[in-house]
Amino acid sequence: MDSYRNKNVSASPSYDQREERKTAANEPTLVVMSNRAPIRVVREGSRARLEPTVGGVGTTFLRLLGRNGGLWIAWSEGQAALTPPAPAPHLGFGLSLVDLDEREVSQYYHGMCNRALWPLMHSMVSNCHFDAAHWQQYRAVNRKFAERAATVVPGGSELWIQDFHLALTPRLVRARRTDLPIGVFWHVPFPPVELYRVFPWRSELLEGMLGANLVGFHTPSYTANFLEACERVLGAQVDWSDGRVRYQSGTSRVLPFPLGIPADYFEQLAASPRIRERAQRIRRGLRSPVIVLGVDRLDYTKGILERLLGFERFLEINPAYHRLVTLVLIAVPSRTKLADYVRLKGQVDECVGRIVGRFSSEGWVPIRYLYTQLSTDELAAYYAGADIALLTPLRDGMNLVAKEFIAAHPNDDAVLILSEFAGAAEELTEALLVNPYDSEAIALRLRQAIEMSAETRAQRMSVLREKVRSNSLERWSSEFLGTLRKEFELEAGCTAEAAAH
Ligand code: UDP
Repeated sequence: MDSYRNKNVSASPSYDQREERKTAANEPTLVVMSNRAPIRVVREGSRARLEPTVGGVGTTFLRLLGRNGGLWIAWSEGQAALTPPAPAPHLGFGLSLVDLDEREVSQYYHGMCNRALWPLMHSMVSNCHFDAAHWQQYRAVNRKFAERAATVVPGGSELWIQDFHLALTPRLVRARRTDLPIGVFWHVPFPPVELYRVFPWRSELLEGMLGANLVGFHTPSYTANFLEACERVLGAQVDWSDGRVRYQSGTSRVLPFPLGIPADYFEQLAASPRIRERAQRIRRGLRSPVIVLGVDRLDYTKGILERLLGFERFLEINPAYHRLVTLVLIAVPSRTKLADYVRLKGQVDECVGRIVGRFSSEGWVPIRYLYTQLSTDELAAYYAGADIALLTPLRDGMNLVAKEFIAAHPNDDAVLILSEFAGAAEELTEALLVNPYDSEAIALRLRQAIEMSAETRAQRMSVLREKVRSNSLERWSSEFLGTLRKEFELEAGCTAEAAAH
């Protein structure tokens, strides 16, 4: 069993067959490398089945690789059941799984990734916990992933590394495989250099990332923050006109690629009779003329408490809207073993309880709180059933929920209230933007959204929907991969020229 676990678990058609097909078509094979695998094992009694993991990187790339084939390298998360006799995963691509032991999981993943890099990248320095032992494990695990990539990635492939968990791998893989175009996409924000500077291993992290030919961020601001860090922390030569960083003997291109969503998919889902019926059931159940929706993982970056305080303020100053407006708060359990998250859960529970106790009347309950993870179908029904989305992250790489909500309203009959500090706010400027730290402003935005004329609502929403539609997932990935290819060829050309001289 063990020997099988470290091989590629492939679906039909097999990875090798796809490999032949790709080679025949002279197209590079895409290899994605991320911390989490795109699927997980769900056990039901003695049976086990495979299910896609929800959210973030997983959902996005599952669609891309499922369609085009390729290989995915990820942490196994101890999922021995991914090997036979569990049912074959009909994924359409290969999987190469990396095992981590308990200490690695604790120090690399929970320690360095979740308690240091996650808050640092979200500019929440006071939540950061820096520990040299955790950094040692982060290095070791990055080496492990890099070794796996250097060994299993076939020649003629492109390697696309995802997110802050594997920041050191580009340089490590580059040292062994000069033949591979290497790209990195950073799914979280990148903080201003004045905050980034507090990180004790600030140079090594940047050097690791600069092993890639292309580094992508969601927004121009994160890109600028990263370039500034390269310039000021490393003393690298930065060409601000085209986002090129020259450091030691290599050059990396750094550009924004705002992540898109499969807009057609959400549009069709929301318009389907099945989801519309479900959305109506939700509305009937809530018995409220106006439904406001908030959806996030329960994370301190998401501004859930701030949203609740803003809603409480709205109810305080707008008694006329009591019994007419209900907030549906969907909070997905996340990192439930970490103290910061346990504390936040307690605070959210308490705040919801206070508001419900304070304002409920005549059978009306102002907040419906769901602490659970919904399937895409269930979520689409909530999107379609809601009138207003109230998304108030204190800092968020992008916020895909905002884009999905827009796509799920093909009739333009909704309003999006969005935090200024979500990456999506740099694109979705027709949303009602709000400072989540200002509960008075949230209350005002809510009232403005409720009272907005159907015409204004439709005008704003149709512009937003066009933006979401035009930046499809397909366009996003083909732009990234097209740029990666060009950058790699350019770098290879420069290296050959330098060698000839
Ligand atoms: N999501 C889901 N079920 C839920 C809540 C969220 O499938 O109950 C998905 C949602 O569709 C979205 C993702 O989780 O694609 C959340 O992405 P976002 O960028 O908003 O936040 P993240 O969790 O990645 O920080």
